[in-house]
Formats: sequence, C-alpha cells, structure tokens
Amino acid sequence: MKLYNHAVFNLGVSLVAGLQVPEIVLIIFGGMIPDVVDSILAGRDQRLFYAIHRTFSHYPWPYLVFYFASYNFEVGQLVAFGALLHVLMDFLTPMGIPLVSPTKRVSLAKIKTGSMFDYILTYCPLLGFLCNLYFTSGNPLFP
Ligand SMILES: [Zn+2]
Repeated sequence: MKLYNHAVFNLGVSLVAGLQVPEIVLIIFGGMIPDVVDSILAGRDQRLFYAIHRTFSHYPWPYLVFYFASYNFEVGQLVAFGALLHVLMDFLTPMGIPLVSPTKRVSLAKIKTGSMFDYILTYCPLLGFLCNLYFTSGNPLFP
C-alpha cells in the first residue's frame, strides 16, 4: 500500500470510530511511521530501501506493546493504533510483513499495491462512514 492509501484508510477508520480531529491526526500520523522510518533509514539508496522495507519497521509486536504500555497515555495509543492499521493493511499485500522473525515476511492475502482492490479496500471505511452519515442524518446534499 502507498502512503496515501494508508492515510485514507486510517482517516476512514477514525471517522467510523467517531474520533475528533486531533485524534484522527494522530492515527494518520501513526499510519505514516512504518514507511517513513524505512525511507529515513535508507536515505536516497533505493536498493537499501527495498532491502529493509517491511522488515523491522513493520514488525507489529513493538507497536502492540507500545499500545498497551501507553494505556494511560492516549497520544501514544492513537499513534500505535495508526501504525498497527498500517501494518495490518500491508499484511494483505503479496510482500507481507514480518510476524515471527523481523526479517522473514508472511502474507495474509495477495492484494497488490495500486490495484483496483487496493483502492476499494482503502476507501471502504470512508465510504461506510459517508453512507452511515447519509442514512442516519438525511441527505446533506439535498435536504
Ligand atoms: Zn508499509
């Protein structure tokens, strides 16, 4: 998944969850962390980027530990939740994510990045939110 898709998906999930703008921003920010970490570590070296991409930065367990460790620190929980959503979405791609070993990736599905199904999945939560808004509060476009 591309960074844009992670941001849109995290936005949709946040809206479905009924969160407020500061919380939504933190979840979107958390969703950027795994790929941004890879980009920062690799710099401009594309080979290094592909070598380290979706290894340690996409290992879900540290984010899960951080989520539970910050049980009384909402900012930390929201950022960790955003990162976990990112890792979950990448788990559905053929490249997968590391689950047991931080360097060996496994995949849950074969949804290719940039494919039609990738975009359908990306927009599902946002469309669900908009449909719910439409059907529960009337048509905001034609009141
Ligand atoms: Zn990623």
